[in-house]
Amino acid sequence: MADQCLFCKIVSGEIPAKIVYQDDSVVGFVDIAPMAKNHLLFVHRKHSPEICHMSLQNPEQLVEVMQAIAHFALEQKIDQSGFRIVTNCGPDAGQTVFHTHFHVLYGEKLGRFGR
Ligand code: 5GP
Ligand code: ZN
Repeated sequence: MADQCLFCKIVSGEIPAKIVYQDDSVVGFVDIAPMAKNHLLFVHRKHSPEICHMSLQNPEQLVEVMQAIAHFALEQKIDQSGFRIVTNCGPDAGQTVFHTHFHVLYGEKLGRFGR
């Protein structure tokens, strides 16, 4: 756990969140400021600051988070209706929390994205 990391504190239960998924490696919870009808965040329990670090230093964590999202999507049957996974990395993408996280958006037709 990284000191002062918001998502480490959510993972440990120190800060409350609406948890929608958990397994030994991954936690999924509701985003506090939803940008779609359903807006979740999936994180690995182990801290890393962003996706490049996770992908290069601990690639198995990336697989574990993606598998957790896949399990959730199949359970919720949103693999049929569709969903979007987004990860923001660095200033131009507007990353605000430096614990690697994957936004999962679903439950309505989503707009295009980019600029
Ligand atoms: P980023 O901007 O880094 O891609 O995403 C950070 C996300 O964390 C934002 O969508 C923001 O709404 C969410 N967030 C920030 N603080 C909290 C919090 O205390 N609880 C929860 N559940 N989400 C948070
Ligand atoms: Zn963290």
